[in-house]
Amino acid sequence: MTIPKLFLLSILCVLITQSCTDESALTNENTSDTNDTATKSYAKVDQRLWPYFEAFEIAALERGYIYDLNDLGITGVIRRINDNGVAGTCQYGTHIHHVTIDSDYWEIASKLNREYVVFHELGHCALGRGHKEDANQSGYCLSLMNSGTTDCRVLYNNNNLDYYQDELFKWQE
Ligand SMILES: [Zn+2]
Repeated sequence: MTIPKLFLLSILCVLITQSCTDESALTNENTSDTNDTATKSYAKVDQRLWPYFEAFEIAALERGYIYDLNDLGITGVIRRINDNGVAGTCQYGTHIHHVTIDSDYWEIASKLNREYVVFHELGHCALGRGHKEDANQSGYCLSLMNSGTTDCRVLYNNNNLDYYQDELFKWQE
């Protein structure tokens, strides 16, 4: 199932003074790899984001990549983003790797949708990835890192989590 193009994702490319907007179709399924509670804490990160930050590290580790978001200095907040319809941003620069998730979005999003947005923004802020717009013949985005400026749709559910997370972490291979 796809969601309306109500919430957009965006990255604030602080270093290169360029901003871009994403929109993505998400699912309403309320299950994901992310547990409700984190076993790890993250400095200067909203506690509600901890399970998703930890899930990101675990998903990376399962694929042989070690990312310590504390060591990387990733910070994160959940607050109102006034830019209409924007669900999340990553401010990325020499001394800043800051994830912001829109509080209105957070309140209504399923766990999967939350995971999708957090993983997308960490794709920018932690992995240093840009956007990837490729789609398959059915019109589905091949990457969680799609910008949403094309027509591709994301179907992020328990059947394709592994595919999208493989693509997220293994894109350089
Ligand atoms: Zn983005």
